[in-house]
Amino acid sequence: MAYLKFNTRLSSLGKLDRKFLLGFQKEFQKILWNAIGINALCFFDETNPKAVEIYKIPKGVYNFKKRKYCTFPLFTFSRDALLKAIKRADSDTLVKVLVITDAPLYKRNVDGPIFSDIECGNDIAIVSTSGMKGYPRGPKSIRQRLLKESLYLVGRMIGLPNCMNEGCAMKHAKNIDDIDKKNKAYCNDCLNRLYGGKI
Ligand SMILES: [Zn+2]
Repeated sequence: MAYLKFNTRLSSLGKLDRKFLLGFQKEFQKILWNAIGINALCFFDETNPKAVEIYKIPKGVYNFKKRKYCTFPLFTFSRDALLKAIKRADSDTLVKVLVITDAPLYKRNVDGPIFSDIECGNDIAIVSTSGMKGYPRGPKSIRQRLLKESLYLVGRMIGLPNCMNEGCAMKHAKNIDDIDKKNKAYCNDCLNRLYGGKI
């Protein structure tokens, strides 16, 4: 990567619980340190580690026919969070935004369920816990599934393509079983892409 530091600014939309979100942030931070390195930070608010930003889903985003929320206007809505985070960061820091929601999502022109989506500029990604319902704890819990999908989204935002290697966090998941099979880490091929000057 051309940047020395990497910030993932978290933002939440909908009705997810503050405690759940803070727990997620803590664990995701550790995963990023292991996967990318010590200069990868993840936070809701860089000035207050205990603050969690939870927004109401903006009106007009819900599609009554599909009974889901369209990702496209949610990216537009989250642009403010990105601009704020870029303004506060040093010039040698790459900044991306990860929006976490409990709302069921759909992507324009795509049929079928999706867990997540990335805006075309690769600066903002959104991930939903809807459809991730699982065991309260352990590898098949909502939290673990959310962590794995988030690591995939961060990888995509920093330029990693989908990976075919079994267990790699960058393998595209079409369903819950696919997510469960992944590790919370990038494989060596992906790490080589990230640090071998290919991105
Ligand atoms: Zn890989």
